[in-house]
Amino acid sequence: MRILKIQTLRGPNYWSIRRHKLIVMRLDLENLAETPSNQIPGFYEGLVEALPSLEGHYCSPGCRGGFLMRVKEGTMMGHIVEHVALELQELAGMHVGFGRTRETATPGIFQVVIEYLNEEAGRYSARAAVRLCQSIVDRGRYPKAELEQDILDLQDLWRESSLGPSTEAIIKEAEKRGIPWTQLSARFLIQLGYGVNQKRIQATMTGNTGILGVELACDKEATKRILAASGAPVPKGTVINFFDDLEEAIEYVGGYPIVIKPSDGNHGRGITIDIRDWDEAEAAYESARLISRSIIVERYYPGRDHRVLVVDGKVVAVAERVPAHVVGDGRSTIAQLIEETNQDPNRGEGHDNILTKIELDRSSYQLLERQGLTLKSVPPKGTICYLRATANLSTGGSAIDRTDEIHPENVWLAQRVVKIIGLDVAGLDIVTTDISRPLREVDGVIVEVNAAPGFRMHVAPSQGIPRNVAGAVIDMLFPHEQSSRIPILSITGTNGKTTTTRLLAHIYKQTGKVIGYTTTDGTYIGEYLVESGDNTGPQSAHVILEDPTVEVAVLETARGGILRSGVGFDMANVGVVLNVAADHLGIGDIDTIEQLANLKSVVAEAVFPDGYAVLNADDHRVAAMAQKTKANVAYFTMNPDAELVRQHVQQGGVAAVYENGYLSIVKGDWTHRIERAENIPLTMGGRAGFMIANALAASLAAFVQDVTIEQIRAGLKTFRASVSQTPGRMNLFNLGKYHALVDYAHNPASYEALGSFVRNWTTGERIGVVGGPGDRRDEDFVTLGKLSAEIFDYIIVKEDDDTRGRSRGSAAELITNGITQVNPNCRYESVLDETTAINQALDMAPDNSLVVILPESVNRAIKLIKLRGLVTEEVQPQ
Ligand code: ATP
Ligand code: ATP
Ligand code: MG
Ligand code: MG
Repeated sequence: MRILKIQTLRGPNYWSIRRHKLIVMRLDLENLAETPSNQIPGFYEGLVEALPSLEGHYCSPGCRGGFLMRVKEGTMMGHIVEHVALELQELAGMHVGFGRTRETATPGIFQVVIEYLNEEAGRYSARAAVRLCQSIVDRGRYPKAELEQDILDLQDLWRESSLGPSTEAIIKEAEKRGIPWTQLSARFLIQLGYGVNQKRIQATMTGNTGILGVELACDKEATKRILAASGAPVPKGTVINFFDDLEEAIEYVGGYPIVIKPSDGNHGRGITIDIRDWDEAEAAYESARLISRSIIVERYYPGRDHRVLVVDGKVVAVAERVPAHVVGDGRSTIAQLIEETNQDPNRGEGHDNILTKIELDRSSYQLLERQGLTLKSVPPKGTICYLRATANLSTGGSAIDRTDEIHPENVWLAQRVVKIIGLDVAGLDIVTTDISRPLREVDGVIVEVNAAPGFRMHVAPSQGIPRNVAGAVIDMLFPHEQSSRIPILSITGTNGKTTTTRLLAHIYKQTGKVIGYTTTDGTYIGEYLVESGDNTGPQSAHVILEDPTVEVAVLETARGGILRSGVGFDMANVGVVLNVAADHLGIGDIDTIEQLANLKSVVAEAVFPDGYAVLNADDHRVAAMAQKTKANVAYFTMNPDAELVRQHVQQGGVAAVYENGYLSIVKGDWTHRIERAENIPLTMGGRAGFMIANALAASLAAFVQDVTIEQIRAGLKTFRASVSQTPGRMNLFNLGKYHALVDYAHNPASYEALGSFVRNWTTGERIGVVGGPGDRRDEDFVTLGKLSAEIFDYIIVKEDDDTRGRSRGSAAELITNGITQVNPNCRYESVLDETTAINQALDMAPDNSLVVILPESVNRAIKLIKLRGLVTEEVQPQ
């Protein structure tokens, strides 16, 4: 077997609208192409031995063991690889269930599709599955050690990609509410929502968290001073910078027991509490000094440690934090008990699991000593032995939920304190003997205010009720169900995508909103170009959706991007499908026009149920997408008598129709005329029928988004097929004695569309400069030649500079074949170099003629035309 390609999908895609995270592996079975599993000696046995848990895969028989039954009876290796890849991820703790395997048009080559949770783990599992299966084919087995390593590697990848428990909690809550999220490219920044309605978080800090509040909270001494000044109970203490001042400081706080800590530490680092004599104080000073220059000396307050979480001015959870400890069983030593406790799968390293493994430090030994213990002691059953003085989860502590126990006065105090510090999300560390009584009655203190507090102890306490604190954060960021989204209108089709996208963006601009749009020529926001290039894939969509100024996204969505990685958003409000025609066939395992239609149908299907699929009723493959989408359907048609549309509007549906020279919106009994086609410059005086169709689609997409008829009309009337607005789309130039038209038509359907306009050029000769991208099929070039012979009086056949792997001259030969098949007497010549071909056509153009140029480079063609001197661009020919 040989892996030819592995692709990672991240959005609605050809294989599934709902499952966005898929790996697509193109797999050549090579010598296994003709050999089902039952014909490979020992394969079934080897597979069951290596992965007995495959028993759990139902597969088509629909019962336990169903898949293994298929292996026994004989199934193709691609299918087995699919199940193995899923199982490997499953064994590493990633629950995935979706898989598909399809043979491509090339015999022996399969597409294996598997779900993933983590991209890298998904790709790894695909490769490992091939390795595993190949090993069983070759040797009858897959070494156990290798499988174990695979699973460890997969777990590593999974762990490394984890965003941390607090972030994960917020993301999960966002997903539950249908709020889209994206990880930005740096600093673990997470974007929630799209465009102008987005919010950001970084762990539990939000875009609303103020820098002043954070800096104040990070400065423990300053925090204490501000709080003391407002009458809040804080530990009595002082700050020193020199060892010589220690003695005096201890006196100042009232003598032992005391606490020594670095002034800007965290996670309990460098802190020693409950210091009872000078020797301990000296050691504690040294250890704090390793973290910070300034040292805090405080009175020690006995009591339990509590974390009070305040979000948006309200206490949302309270947890008691219990320092790392073990409980004696009367048999094991403390060392053994620690090891046993650390076996808990919930305990991980650092912050990446619910709890953290217990690790001992200097203070641990001191603490044990005080309890009269060593690591070798065997504590009696039920006794608690503390191993850390501070209760931070990150040093192995655990948590008990106390949300329902906190006294109302303490709630009031906590909320007030957080307001004083100025944080939207804060965690208060409170030491008190009893949180259910007011602090002032029991001599409790607020030790610290934390910005970016961890959520672990609240969402997964070791004891008590988990609290949905992430919900409170989302409520704050998106109050009153405020939308996190912006309207997304996505446009696909074989021809006319860019034109329609630009027109729709232009129409939408009439509402005064900031429109972000992507096209084959570039990405735009408002009036400005953000980035030029073929920007019709998911990455460009992200540029728009991540932009905080964009209010509406209009996205040209081409087949290449959908195929490569799925669409760049989860769901659109409007999905427009213009047409489906033969183009790009044979690329990316899309070999038939039906497959192409299924691919484009993703745009119609990835639409919210209350959104609209805007479909071309005149193209039966597009009209049929109505059956597949869950969204509302709106049709556009050039034919006022189309039966499908008539029925649709009678049942209350909405449509855009070209009738009696007008572009109109039709619904039920009423027809609302938007404008006469001949008043819409894009339609070239109503003569370019395909442009009328594009304009209908754009108008309808705007209409279903509540853009008014007046705004649509204004947009249609001011949008011109000019070089500046639509370079390469029907750009007509007046060169005095003759005209030149530059257009991007590059497949039979667009040639035909263009031809219908060119044939209307009756004043003079029609000269064509034609050619197409080298990666098209041979027959496409022949068709191109045939159509050219029907459109033009004289043809110059040229080739692209970039032949895309074709030998020079072969595309031109195919085109001329087509020309002569249709009209053996047609006048034509081959001039392979595009610049020479264009110049030659312009040189020879007789009076009143029309030179139609279908260039590789639109810019170059336009430049060559402009070099001819007095040229005016005509946006509406007479
Ligand atoms: P984190 O930011 O992770 O909460 P930290 O390193 O910032 O920890 P503090 O919160 O100041 O440190 O102290 C850690 C713990 O030590 C407190 O939660 C509390 O249990 C204990 N502690 C600190 N100061 C005192 C004090 N004056 N009296 C009693 N206990 C204290
Ligand atoms: P690409 O796949 O290159 O991005 P596109 O779908 O974005 O193309 P446009 O750039 O808008 O299409 O138009 C390219 C050419 O296709 C036009 O210049 C015109 O010749 C032709 N065309 C435009 N609209 C239609 C249509 N509705 N039907 C057929 N042909 C069309
Ligand atoms: Mg603290
Ligand atoms: Mg385009």
